[in-house]
Amino acid sequence: MQRIATRCKTAKDETSLVTKKARKEVEKSCDEAKHCYSLPSTGGDYECVEFGNGYSVNLPSRSCACRKCDLSGIPCRHAVSVIRENGLEVEDFISDYYLTSKWQGLYMNGLSPVNGPKFWKKSGGDRIEAPPYKRPPGRPKGKARIKGVNESPKKNVTKVD
Ligand SMILES: [Zn+2]
Repeated sequence: MQRIATRCKTAKDETSLVTKKARKEVEKSCDEAKHCYSLPSTGGDYECVEFGNGYSVNLPSRSCACRKCDLSGIPCRHAVSVIRENGLEVEDFISDYYLTSKWQGLYMNGLSPVNGPKFWKKSGGDRIEAPPYKRPPGRPKGKARIKGVNESPKKNVTKVD
């Protein structure tokens, strides 16, 4: 209950459109995108070239050959390159899962506090007691067996003839 309340407060204090984690990932992708340039095709397809290697990017489906966009929902450096060259905003291509409003919605309905026994409703039935003690089978632990008269005595005891 306390953990959910703490997280609810943290989420409410967030002021930006997307969460902090998503912003950091996008900033990282934006830094890495400086080595990329894109070549347009049809149907929203682009080829992003990075160090002589091509990556096929599809903006409408938010997918890339490196699969980072597909798996994380955050644009990779190739998608960022394509988005920037088309004059679009990178934040618009972040998955809705990273929206601050979604995060806040997760912790809106916390656990309800519970009243103590003083406030419990009386049922009117008999009081429930603990079950009677039943001795378990076998010798109690720590109790050695009492040896018989003709059994061998302890080892340290000296025999007297
Ligand atoms: Zn990529």
